Amino acid sequence: PYEHLLKIRKQNVSPSLVTYYKKPLLLHQGHMQWLFDYEGRRYLDLFAGIVTVSVGHCHPKVTAAAQKQLDRLWHTTNIYMHPSIQEYAEKLTALLPDPLKVVYLTNSGSEANDLAMFMARLYTRNFDLICFRGGYHGASPYALGLTSIGSYKHGVANGFGCQTTMLPDVFRGPWGGSHCRDSPVQTIRKCSCSQGSCEANDWYIEQFKDTLDTCVPKKIAGFIAEPIQGVNGAVQYPKGFLKKAFQLVHERGGVCIADEVQTGFGRTGSHFWGFQTHDIVPDIVTMAKGIGNGFPMAAVVTKPEIANSLAQNLHFNTFGGNPVACVAGSAVLDVIAEAGLQKNSEEVGTYMLLEFAKLRDNFEIIGDVRGKGLMIGIEMVKNKDSRQPLPAEEMSEIWEDCKDMGVLLGKGGIYGQYVHAIG
Ligand code: PMP
Repeated sequence: PYEHLLKIRKQNVSPSLVTYYKKPLLLHQGHMQWLFDYEGRRYLDLFAGIVTVSVGHCHPKVTAAAQKQLDRLWHTTNIYMHPSIQEYAEKLTALLPDPLKVVYLTNSGSEANDLAMFMARLYTRNFDLICFRGGYHGASPYALGLTSIGSYKHGVANGFGCQTTMLPDVFRGPWGGSHCRDSPVQTIRKCSCSQGSCEANDWYIEQFKDTLDTCVPKKIAGFIAEPIQGVNGAVQYPKGFLKKAFQLVHERGGVCIADEVQTGFGRTGSHFWGFQTHDIVPDIVTMAKGIGNGFPMAAVVTKPEIANSLAQNLHFNTFGGNPVACVAGSAVLDVIAEAGLQKNSEEVGTYMLLEFAKLRDNFEIIGDVRGKGLMIGIEMVKNKDSRQPLPAEEMSEIWEDCKDMGVLLGKGGIYGQYVHAIG
C-alpha cells in the first residue's frame, strides 16, 4: 500500500533522491506517452523520465528485442565477443560523421562525460578543461566538476567549498543561460536568443576568449558543451557562437566535446544530433538518456586517434556493452527511423513552441519560451519586466496543478524557474 511504500522510501532510500509532488506519484505501468498510477489514473508524460523515453514507454519493438535477448544471454563481459556490441557500434557510428567512428559503451551520461574528459587529457597531455556556466554534465565527481549549476554542488555549507566535487583546472565560460540579460550588447526585449537566432554574439566571444586566456597558454585539454543546455532550461546559444568557441579551442590545441545526452537521437527535430545544428563536428560525442529509451546505457564516440590514447592502458567497465542494452539500443534506432520520430519531433515541437509562445504573449508570468524540437523550456517569472524567477512555492503549484490535470512536466533552470515540456 501507498503509505507503507512511502515510509520505506523515507527510511531506506537516500534522501538525496527527491520526489516531485506533495504526494509523490506511485507508478504502475507505462505505455508509449502514457503513465498509469496504482489508482488507475493516466498521465501524459511530458517529462519522459527526464528526457529519456525517446520512443515511448515499453515500446513493443524495444521490449520484444530485449526479451528475446534476455532468453539468450543477459550478461557476459565485453572481454568476449557477442554480436550485439559490434552490431550496435556499426549502426550507431553510421549515424555520425567521419571521423567519429569508435564507440566506448558506458552505463550513464556522467560516466560517459568522465571518460570524455579523461580521453581529452590523455590525448592532449594537458589538464585545463573548459565548460559553460549553466551546463549540466553529470553527478559523478569528475562530471560534477564540470556541472555549473550550484544546487548540484556539495559541501558549500560545511566549509569544504566545492572541493568535494570540483575538478582542478576547470574554467567556466560565459554562457549562463540567463539570457541576454548578462550581455551589455542587447536588451531583453530585442533579444531573440531563445530562438537561437541572435547574431549579436561578439560579447560572448570576447568573454569566451577571456576564459581561454585564464588557462595555461596553449595548454587546453578539452572543452565540453551541450548543443542546447538541457537542465538549465532548454537554453540556446546565439547563432554561430558554439562554432566560434570550437574554433578557438581547436586553435589552442584542445579537443571539443559535444554532450548529446539530452539533444541526441533526433530530439531537437531538424537534425539527429544537436551539434549538427551548429555546423560543427566535435572530436568526442557523449550520449545517454534517449539512447536506450530508459535502458541503462550510454556511449562515448570519438575518432580513432583519441580512442587509441585510452587504449594505452587497460580501461574497463563490467556492464558497458551489455547484450540486452545493445539490442534495446539497436531497436530504438530502428523505431526512430521507421516511425519518423525525428520529423515528428520537428513538427510537434514547432507546433508546441508556437502555441506556448501565444501563451507567453498573453500571460505576464511566462517570461520566455525556448527550445527546439521536443526539447522545450518555459521560463516562469514574477513579471515580464523584471524577469525575476517565479518563487519556488508558486512553481510547485503549477506542477501540482498540471499533475492533477494528468500532465507530468519537468523542472529546470538555475533557480528552478523553468518548466520542461517535452514528449
Ligand atoms: N549530460 C547532460 C546534458 C544531462 O542532462 C545529464 C543528466 N541530466 C547528464 C549528462 C548525466 O547523465 P546521467 O544522469 O545518466 O549520469
